[in-house]
Amino acid sequence: MRPFQYVRPDGLDHASLRLREGARSIAGGTNLLDLMKLDVETPSELVDINRLPLGGIEEAGERLRLGALVSNSACAADPRIRRDYPVLARAILAGATFQLRNKATTGGNLCQRTRCYYFYNIDQPCNKREPGSGCAAIGGFNRIHAILGASDSCIATYPGDMAVALYALDAAVEIAGADGSKREVSVRDFHRLPGDTPEKDNVLEPGEIITGVMLPAPAAGKQLYRKVRERSSYAFALVSIAAMVRMEGGRIASAALAFGGLAHKPWHDPRIDALLSGAEPSDALFDRAADLLLENARGQGANDFKIPLARRALKATLHEATGDNA
Ligand code: SF4
Repeated sequence: MRPFQYVRPDGLDHASLRLREGARSIAGGTNLLDLMKLDVETPSELVDINRLPLGGIEEAGERLRLGALVSNSACAADPRIRRDYPVLARAILAGATFQLRNKATTGGNLCQRTRCYYFYNIDQPCNKREPGSGCAAIGGFNRIHAILGASDSCIATYPGDMAVALYALDAAVEIAGADGSKREVSVRDFHRLPGDTPEKDNVLEPGEIITGVMLPAPAAGKQLYRKVRERSSYAFALVSIAAMVRMEGGRIASAALAFGGLAHKPWHDPRIDALLSGAEPSDALFDRAADLLLENARGQGANDFKIPLARRALKATLHEATGDNA
């Protein structure tokens, strides 16, 4: 690890200012410190935001606000989250380990970086780490890589679980800027596809800090999180699905689904939600939903198996969520 300056800001404005000058923020550090030890990230200054007033889970009208510094453990254990947003609690508990969840924060979890093997190996070309250097995963070992939304520059996947649930919930990310401005961005617009600038994971501008996440008013219905991975704990998703499904009179009254492990960001396709909403559950309907999901899916060789795996995982989730066991 290279030497760096350590700064404890005396307020949000101070932190934003330092970030605009090129510093990196640190909270739990569960991803950033690994990246620094490997020289993948080499910030000259770290801004420790742990003492800023960004904690707490509080009601905001019909919505629930998670402070950016709320730990993943605290979020998953909160009685309001467990009662009204069980998909979020389940997704968080499906990720990492107790120890990591105790340190990892809501804001940091959203900003975690890909686990592409080549991104972590500074001897390999990687457009995300070093723009213009190439992509060793294309034509390399790409078992964990994307089948949707990839580009010729990068085929990495977003690794997290929490954000997949937030996409299904249609949460919003609260962001503060260096000039004192505040904005809210739908979480579905927060992460980016790689395009030809894979070094940029999300829409945060220099100096901006995530201050919280707003959960919408609780919705009725069943909430599920299904995660398919290499082993049953402490592994990233090959495919994951967050599903919110409300049944009424034997039909699907509403559905909202999001997918992890498939793309550079959690994947949400509004056509799937629209297809399911108002329809009678059936195996044929679920096949049509999978057709929509995988219409433009493209394997890279070692990850071709994700295409049939995503279909099976989606169908199994929908059968479980609707109670249609045909
Ligand atoms: Fe880098 Fe993306 Fe290629 Fe992985 S897939 S080596 S992160 S450019």
